Amino acid sequence: MPRYSLKSQDRLNTCHPLIQELFGEVIKEYDCAILEGHRARRRQNQLHKQGKSKVKWPDSTHNELPSMGVDAGPWFKGKGIPWDEPNQFYVFAGFVLSKAKQLKIKIRWGGDWDGDHDVNDQWFKDLGHFELLSTEKES
Ligand SMILES: [Zn+2]
Repeated sequence: MPRYSLKSQDRLNTCHPLIQELFGEVIKEYDCAILEGHRARRRQNQLHKQGKSKVKWPDSTHNELPSMGVDAGPWFKGKGIPWDEPNQFYVFAGFVLSKAKQLKIKIRWGGDWDGDHDVNDQWFKDLGHFELLSTEKES
């Protein structure tokens, strides 16, 4: 069974318990890495300046504590995170979204912001980004 590196686990620990629950399940079946959880002011504003984030502190879901946003990606032995292969992120996100549904955790993915399953109508793609839509499970 795959497991998180200490770095990934540390990052996941800064996230909301429901995100921790979800990705705690995902890793059992799908090797992946947590790229970022909570993001401090300095880093948020730096990413904004670089055009990698659309918002400044404190407007990102990553700025809340615990973090309501998480960045994650698939992990392959010998290859690591396949940054130049977006298809791998689509497959991974499909798995995460379906696992979230199973667990009744409401999330949104940065490759389908409006959740209509059409991945070609995005104004901004953030394929590794997931965020919690509610701190309560679907009843
Ligand atoms: Zn993110």
